[in-house]
Amino acid sequence: MIISRNPYTGEEISNHHELSDTEVEKCIQKAHSRFKSWKETSFAERSNLMMKAAKELKDNTQEYAEAITKEMGKPITQAVAEIDKCAWVCEYYAENAESQLENEKIKTDAKNSYVAYEPLGVVLAVMPWNYPFWQVFRFAAPALMAGNIGILKHASNVMLSANNIQKVFERAGFPKDCFQNLEIGSKKVENIIRNTNVKAVTLTGSGRAGSSVASIAGEEIMKSVLELGGSNALVIFKDANIAESVKTCVQARFQNTGQSCIAGKRLLLHKDIAEEFLDEFTRQVRELKSGDPMNKETFIGVMAKESLAEDLEDQIKDSVKKGAKIILGGKRDGTYFEPTIITGAKEGMPVFDEETFGPAISVTEFKDDQEAVDLVNSSSFGLGVSIFTEDEKFALKMVPKFEDGAVFVNELVKSDPRLPFGGTKISGYGRELSHHGIREFTNRKTVYFNKY
Ligand code: NAP
Repeated sequence: MIISRNPYTGEEISNHHELSDTEVEKCIQKAHSRFKSWKETSFAERSNLMMKAAKELKDNTQEYAEAITKEMGKPITQAVAEIDKCAWVCEYYAENAESQLENEKIKTDAKNSYVAYEPLGVVLAVMPWNYPFWQVFRFAAPALMAGNIGILKHASNVMLSANNIQKVFERAGFPKDCFQNLEIGSKKVENIIRNTNVKAVTLTGSGRAGSSVASIAGEEIMKSVLELGGSNALVIFKDANIAESVKTCVQARFQNTGQSCIAGKRLLLHKDIAEEFLDEFTRQVRELKSGDPMNKETFIGVMAKESLAEDLEDQIKDSVKKGAKIILGGKRDGTYFEPTIITGAKEGMPVFDEETFGPAISVTEFKDDQEAVDLVNSSSFGLGVSIFTEDEKFALKMVPKFEDGAVFVNELVKSDPRLPFGGTKISGYGRELSHHGIREFTNRKTVYFNKY
């Protein structure tokens, strides 16, 4: 039995019988059959349906957002924003998929040679609970527009949202089985990857899950994309605009109650401005409103599962034992974790080396630019980094020094349908969004005409 439970009230929201192996096999068979007709549809037809999916999201934002908030404790205003963003990604690919996938002519000795982008077939998406709609839509919108079929294995604690996503595509009028949610636990993933009718897999989640899925996909010589954890740095250089950068850093770390892969988790401060920055940062974090996630005024909700809050508590305690200092927060009550600031962080401490998936930020001072770069790159993660400086030339000089998948200047790291998204190092491989994302699940077919 898969149970969705409200992490704020503890109430059971829904329960779901796990599909048997035979039922999963039938779903894959139906998906495979649907692929044969779906890949023949025109971009105009797909686009029309994807626009209807966007409309469905916009017309029923509150219904879908409330389910998210109930299932994983995200404040309701942030859940509403998530649904809006899903409508945006649907519209973006409805408008751009055709041009992104049109044949790419390449001049050679041939009379005519080009690259064609063709769909692969049934793609399995293994997704996390932290942005239960967005993580799925940023995969599904491009995958379906490219002519693929999506099957979803969502996180076990957000099955209501998972079924709602299938409902969005059904209500929009997509042909049956274009997108199916499978009510299963993670143990059933291996057999799905090994099913010859499944052609690719994408996973957004932890390194542990990613490594397992990619190993199995590797054995099957199957295409995989991994979007894994991050421990992004927020680097405040000494010429940064303190007022603006404090505001951005508070958002970067504490939105979604800190449960975001791209959140800025390590605050790196130039020693000359460290005190001024930290005073204002602490003041603003202290003012963040915690409370009932259903309340529109709430900014800090609860963590999605008590075990996650316990993990965060352990990481902080261990770091304190190693010399770090809590200057704000640090206490836990069930699934609620106080917004927390930890100073004196350095290599060897969990709050510096590991991903902290909750409302806690570590602070480290640096003395010069090279030390800042070394601190950023010492992480085994490589999702993104934010740097704050008023000097454009300096920023341009710094960008190539970072090993991450993204560098944002005077802005928090965020995903945008128009820009590629993905990491380096143990943050994963492959890209989502933009034309890079839609091409991940295509056969880039080389076509060569000798005579005409
Ligand atoms: P998780 O435990 O890895 O779960 C993610 C998904 O993988 C769930 O559907 C889960 O199913 C499934 N899963 C877990 N173990 C598996 C296995 N051995 N084989 C196959 N599937 C498996 O991660 P989470 O705790 O839900 O999410 C938090 C993590 O995701 C963080 O590390 C975060 O940084 C990362 N994340 C990355 C991005 C990105 O874009 N880079 C975005 C968001 C989150 P069950 O729920 O049934 O276990």
